[in-house]
Amino acid sequence: MGKRDYYETLGVSKNADAKEIKKAYRKLAIKFHPDKNPGNKQAEDKFKEAAEAYDVLSTPEKKKRYDQFGHAGMSGAAGGRGGFSGGGMNMDDIFSQFGDIFGGGGFGGGFGGGGQRRRVVKGSNLRIRINLTLKDVVEGVDKKIKVRKLVVADGVTYITCGTCNGSGQVTRISNTILGQMQTSSPCPNCSGNGKSIDKKPSGADHNGMIQKEETVEISIPAGVEDGMQLKVSGKGNAAPAGGINGDLLVVISVENHPDLVRDSSNNLHFDKYISFAEAVLGITTEIPTVNGKVKIKLEAGTQSGKTLRLKRKGVPSVEGYRTGDLLVHINVWTPQDLSKEEKQFFENCNKSDNFTPKPTNKDKSFFDKVKEMFE
Ligand SMILES: [Zn+2]
Repeated sequence: MGKRDYYETLGVSKNADAKEIKKAYRKLAIKFHPDKNPGNKQAEDKFKEAAEAYDVLSTPEKKKRYDQFGHAGMSGAAGGRGGFSGGGMNMDDIFSQFGDIFGGGGFGGGFGGGGQRRRVVKGSNLRIRINLTLKDVVEGVDKKIKVRKLVVADGVTYITCGTCNGSGQVTRISNTILGQMQTSSPCPNCSGNGKSIDKKPSGADHNGMIQKEETVEISIPAGVEDGMQLKVSGKGNAAPAGGINGDLLVVISVENHPDLVRDSSNNLHFDKYISFAEAVLGITTEIPTVNGKVKIKLEAGTQSGKTLRLKRKGVPSVEGYRTGDLLVHINVWTPQDLSKEEKQFFENCNKSDNFTPKPTNKDKSFFDKVKEMFE
């Protein structure tokens, strides 16, 4: 909670283009870089905050989701329902981003060596799809899901990597027009974690990993949408040699409801068909909601095209600040096949002045009555 707006963090406007965003981030990254601010926790926090903002705003898909849903769209952590970390990046994510920002070679040259930073290897992310009903979406739901993931096999032992002597980095010095540049890159032998495998049990792969099934409990907040992706930190594939786990990405898939359709403002819509006679005489009838039926009363003389609004019977927003309504659209069914007598009946009706359309603005009072029923 209380997370700063990403645009504000970078000090750019909402319609800043990719170039401006990159420039703003570059400035902050240099200002707050840990090598320039050793031991300064505040600078480190600012550095991380800027990196996270840049990560989101520079990735079109993430930016789109952030623009639409705010921070809730990034982590799925709505209204305090547990299960999802608030995103966040570790230092290694941040440094791996720099190749892009500072044009390759990491921080070696520009920042006096950049320290012999041993890379913490992160396991890869897993992605699963979860099918939800509209009821799950409205109420939020806890799911237990079996996931096959890579874990370090029992009995694996490591020794210090001989190629990099455990530093995780190989360093190269080259002469450039600006003078000597020192560049370092992750050790190709140990992928940068400084350790290589000593012993491993049979069945483990070259990294000492095996596949294992694990049950993960996922708490899905109310209001999620089809196609949305939630991140469960640390529940992805493990990494060898004491690295950190990857994340589990949960893609939401919502089944169509037989009667109700959700719109972009979290309202639900239902088309109610009534007969001509019911419209004339009035009717008490039932309307489906995601969690059971609700009775509504239509007055005598209900017009086709009337909309009833059932307050807060829609979908909660994923941020949890508003719940949509259920809009019932009244359609009067006009009979198409009539018996001779019926036809005669309507021909008689038509002679009456009562059957001449006289649209008035009575909708308001009707609306208020319906509202009263449900408040
Ligand atoms: Zn190595």
